[in-house]
Amino acid sequence: MAILVTGGAGYIGSHTVAELLARGEEVVVIDNLQSGHKESLLGGKLYEGDLRDKAMLAKLFSENEIDAVIHFAANSLVGESMQKPVKYYDNNVYGTLCLLEAMEEAGVRRIVFSSTAATYGEPEKVPILETDRTEPTNVYGETKLTMERMMKWFDQVLGIKYVSLRYFNAAGAHDSGKIGEDHRPESHLVPLILQTALGQRQEIAIFGEDYSTPDGTCIRDYIHVSDLADAHVLAVQHLRSGAESNVFNLGNGQGFSVKEVITKVKEVTGVDFKVTVHPRRAGDPAVLVASSEKARTVLGWNPSRSELGHIIQSAWEWHSANPQGYGSK
Ligand code: UDP
Repeated sequence: MAILVTGGAGYIGSHTVAELLARGEEVVVIDNLQSGHKESLLGGKLYEGDLRDKAMLAKLFSENEIDAVIHFAANSLVGESMQKPVKYYDNNVYGTLCLLEAMEEAGVRRIVFSSTAATYGEPEKVPILETDRTEPTNVYGETKLTMERMMKWFDQVLGIKYVSLRYFNAAGAHDSGKIGEDHRPESHLVPLILQTALGQRQEIAIFGEDYSTPDGTCIRDYIHVSDLADAHVLAVQHLRSGAESNVFNLGNGQGFSVKEVITKVKEVTGVDFKVTVHPRRAGDPAVLVASSEKARTVLGWNPSRSELGHIIQSAWEWHSANPQGYGSK
């Protein structure tokens, strides 16, 4: 039996494909390569196409014996979602509907879903628990929550079991040095700081220094991408063992401020660079830190690569060896 990974050529998707292959799983990928990279696939069978292409999806399910789906394919930029809501509802929500429809027709009853901390919105308290209020503050988070809710009903009515994984800040790169983070345009803190250390950017901008945190900058929970990938593999095993649907946070449990991350990058790379303070970015909560106790207890998840220095070191190795990302070679 094979596992279908939608969006498998993306950042977290490609690292998950790598973990699945390392465990001897058969992998089928569907990716429209809008933001994914063919070169990030270390194996598996690629269908280059879009989830909204129903004929292609039906063909994929008929040509392969799929017993579980890991669903990453989505647009995921908060800022863009606030300018282009139609794009987000169409690709994320309608794309998921097409996928669930194809799964139902093919009799596939297991799905692991790539969700996000953005489903919570401004947290009531930290660390955030899975039972806390979900009130997204942006279109991206709202579409992901809608996708989760669809899965709840597709379970209740059709018996399609799901595990939803709500992640915090993914960073880092694969131990092999073969794959890493390459978003275009880049908007995430760790790769932007590394690009600054490489001299590709003049400076790194801190978005807001007036938050109610010890140093005034936002605190986030950074988690190594391969630890996230492990959790997806465990979630598939969990569903294969006959478990009920469930929702899990995936984070490190420890927060770091923007200034702390910058300091750590300077330490790891040995490069000094210019840092400037800019106004706040719209929609940024001051602190986002997860409790991942439930994933540890229920899934047996044990993130082992998520010490901040290690995350940055692995990302630095990828960025310095591939300064132009996947276009370097
Ligand atoms: N950030 C920043 N400068 C940048 C990019 C990000 O200060 O050039 C901050 C951002 O405001 C947030 C944190 O870094 O507090 C992490 O942002 P990122 O976009 O990486 O992830 P998010 O938390 O939005 O998912």
